[in-house]
Amino acid sequence: MNLILNRRGFLAASASFIALHPFSARAQANQAHLRIMETTDLHVHVFPYDYYGDREVDTVGLARTAALIQGVRDEATNTLLVDNGDFLQGNPMGDYIAYERGMAEGDTHPVISAMNALGYDAGTIGNHEFNYGLNFLMNSMAGANFPVVLANVATEQGATPTDDVTLFPPYIILDRELTDGAGNTHPIRIGLIGFVPPQIMNWDRGHLEGNVQARDIVETAQAFIPRMKEEGAEIIIALSHSGIGEANHSDGMENASVPLAALDGIDAILTGHHHLVFPGPDYAETAGVDASAGTIMGKPAAMGGFWGSHMGLVDLLLERDGNSWRIASHVSEARPIYLRGEDRSITPTVESVGAVLAAAQAEHDATLEYVRRAVGQTDAPLHSYFALVADDPSVQIVSNAQTWYIAEMMQGTEHEGLPILSAAAPFKAGGRGGPEYYTDVPAGDIAIKNVADLYLYPNTVRAVRITGADVREWLERSAGMFNQITPGEADQVLLNPDFPSYNFDVIDGVTYEIDLSQPSRYNNDGEVVAPDAHRIVNLMYDGAPIDEAREFIVATNNYRAGGGGHFPGASPATTVFEAPDTNRDVIVRYIVEQGTVSPSADSNWNFAPMDGTTVLFDTGPAASAYFDSVSGVEIEPAGEGPDGFARFRITL
Ligand code: MN
Ligand code: MG
Repeated sequence: MNLILNRRGFLAASASFIALHPFSARAQANQAHLRIMETTDLHVHVFPYDYYGDREVDTVGLARTAALIQGVRDEATNTLLVDNGDFLQGNPMGDYIAYERGMAEGDTHPVISAMNALGYDAGTIGNHEFNYGLNFLMNSMAGANFPVVLANVATEQGATPTDDVTLFPPYIILDRELTDGAGNTHPIRIGLIGFVPPQIMNWDRGHLEGNVQARDIVETAQAFIPRMKEEGAEIIIALSHSGIGEANHSDGMENASVPLAALDGIDAILTGHHHLVFPGPDYAETAGVDASAGTIMGKPAAMGGFWGSHMGLVDLLLERDGNSWRIASHVSEARPIYLRGEDRSITPTVESVGAVLAAAQAEHDATLEYVRRAVGQTDAPLHSYFALVADDPSVQIVSNAQTWYIAEMMQGTEHEGLPILSAAAPFKAGGRGGPEYYTDVPAGDIAIKNVADLYLYPNTVRAVRITGADVREWLERSAGMFNQITPGEADQVLLNPDFPSYNFDVIDGVTYEIDLSQPSRYNNDGEVVAPDAHRIVNLMYDGAPIDEAREFIVATNNYRAGGGGHFPGASPATTVFEAPDTNRDVIVRYIVEQGTVSPSADSNWNFAPMDGTTVLFDTGPAASAYFDSVSGVEIEPAGEGPDGFARFRITL
């Protein structure tokens, strides 16, 4: 198969490959197929519903993945269904159960009900299962009518992994019968062992420290495999809630699926955590991986996307070898619940399974009520009409939440005590999105569905460790938002239309002015184009000029820290913390914990004064209600702009 295909082409090629070679037609006497199906990273998505958008969608939901699973069950004799973790947290239904309804002993969690309705053979625990604490987790799992295995988290750590008292059984050996190609049945013992990134000890320190300990994934697997063999496991399948990362093992690595797959004794591996798809082009360049054949270190493997987007499928052709089974051949696949067209249109491949929906219907309805109702209060209106010309509450609340979260995450690390800044940009700020494309949440109640409006993208939080000099250059890059302004002239156009608002990072925690008389130091590709120009002036930290050599932690997102926008200082090399949490989740948690938020902008940045100079900018017409309450800048209405925008004049 040609690897140089886009995602859609790749999927089409996989599908035709399966159609031409129906795997289940090849079993002979003493041969049997075992089809292992995987869901992973469901994050409480049972219904095909986007609770933030408050609308039905075709891209998520176990009820849809269930149709793919039933399809395989209908055509295959021997199947296993496993879940690879991260099911309890990650959408408003999860938050509703955790923050509102609660999870007392004897309660059933809706995602567990849905999984029970579908019937799983086993599952493992992902890092997000720990987000709401151990009681929540254990009460939730008490309702599962399938076994859950996790080998590398212990309530009491012994000298070696096999001496640990683990939180869940480390592995299970399922006694099953396989029907061979001649219709005869034979017993098989299938070993399943589960793993989670040991980083849970940092990510959920508050819940876990003093209660559990986590071990390295590969070290733990090495210790348990011989024991599983001794107990009669004929094949061993790893349920690895860990991504497909570096081929070389390093102690405590988060994404350990490649060195794990390399271990003798592991026969097949189901992966997750990365929220990507395997086999498929996501991993075409990854060492140790054959992204087309669907193998990791030669072992059959799959990763079923996220939120129910795919069913991972590992097909094993097993052969009797004396009294035991061995793998004769295998095929892997990730089967999608929808296809994305060239025009970005979404076509579902399946319909929802009613029994799975029914299992969570009551909690789904309660979640709809929850996302539409107030969960907190804001004492400032959260709008982005002036986010490009003044410090703004819609950006401020994001920075407040990021700073709050990162401060907690830095505790107990080598970065504790460094000053924490936060970078955030207005995502919905007109431009090509049109005159209604703004955040606009009035003062008063905030509902969960408003949070999507405050934070448009499903980014995850990251932190970088950089110098004061980097902070300055980051802001210089950001200040490319504006055209160069000639002092003393009237009504000049302020905003550079080619500069996207999501690259206008405001850095909170420092104060600064932007001198518009200077040309932009950076172009849109993040290259220095005016080496003598400096737009950022009076950059201060804690009331004094910033020390260029001093180090800071800057809270941001995975896009920026991954190099998006080419911001100086923001790169994988400076990244010191990669959160498992989305910025949205952090904002929800912040609002729920604070009750009332006061995201009044602190005017930490302004334009530098320029005598006798005015500029014009266009924003949504609804801005008229707010222009006289914007602090730190002198704004007046200046008529209508083009295409339904309203025009305002700023006196610099
Ligand atoms: Mn996940
Ligand atoms: Mg601010």
